[in-house]
Amino acid sequence: MPFENIKDIYKRMAHAAMRSGREPQDVKLIAVTKEVGSELIHQAVHIGLREFGESRIQAAREKIPEVRSLDPRARIVWHLIGHLQTNKAKAAVKLFDIIHSVDSLELARSLNRHAGEVGKRQRILLQVKLSDEESKYGILKNKIRSVLAEVFGMQNLRVEGLMTIPPFFEDPEKARPYFRELREVRDEAVSAGHDMKELSMGMSNDFTVAIEEGATMVRIGTAIFGERRK
Ligand SMILES: *Cc1c(COP(=O)(O)O)cnc(C)c1O
Repeated sequence: MPFENIKDIYKRMAHAAMRSGREPQDVKLIAVTKEVGSELIHQAVHIGLREFGESRIQAAREKIPEVRSLDPRARIVWHLIGHLQTNKAKAAVKLFDIIHSVDSLELARSLNRHAGEVGKRQRILLQVKLSDEESKYGILKNKIRSVLAEVFGMQNLRVEGLMTIPPFFEDPEKARPYFRELREVRDEAVSAGHDMKELSMGMSNDFTVAIEEGATMVRIGTAIFGERRK
C-alpha cells in the first residue's frame, strides 16, 4: 500500500521537533518525487502533501504541469533540490517556487537576472559544502560570508536559508556534526545581519537527527515512496 509510512514519518518528525524545543509545525516535510510518476504524486496530494522536491529540470518540465492539471486547485509548492546548471536557470525560475541548490555566485546572478525578467522574486537557499567527501556541489564554508553579502544584495532573489547534503552514513548519528555545523553557519550569518531562517537538511535515513539539530525542511523520498527503481 502506498503511503503506509507517512503517519509514522510525521510522528517521528513531531517528536524530533519537540526534542529540539520547537513545535511540529516548525518543520516542513518535502516529499522528494524524483523517479516518482505524476499519478503517484497526485495520490500524495490526495492524502494532503503539498510540498514536493524534484532534482532535475528535465523531469520537472513534464511532471509539474501534469500534476498541476491533475490537481488544479491544490496549492502545491515545488522545490528544486538537485544541482542546477546555469544554462537552465531560466527554466528553473519558471518551474520552481524555491531553489535549494544555489551553489555558486554565477548561478545566483543568473537566477536574479531571469527572475527580474519575469517580475518574480525567486526564493532560494544556498547549498553549503561542509566536507570534501560529500556531494560535489556547494559553496565552501570559507566563501559563505562573501557570497551571502552579494546575494543579499540581489533584488530579485529572496534568500531564505541554507541547505546541505552530508556524506551518506548507515548510522545517522555520524551525520549529526554536519547538521550542527550548518546551523552554526546560519546562526553566524544571522548575527552578521542576514535575515534568513531555513535549514534544509535531513533525508530518509537521518531526518530525525537533522531536526534535532535545527532542520526546518527535511527532504524525504524513499521513506515515503519506497525504493527508487533505477
Ligand atoms: C534524493 C534526494 C533526497 C531524498 O533522499 P531519500 O534518501 O530518498 O529520502 C533528498 N535530497 C536530495 C538533494 C536528493 O537528491
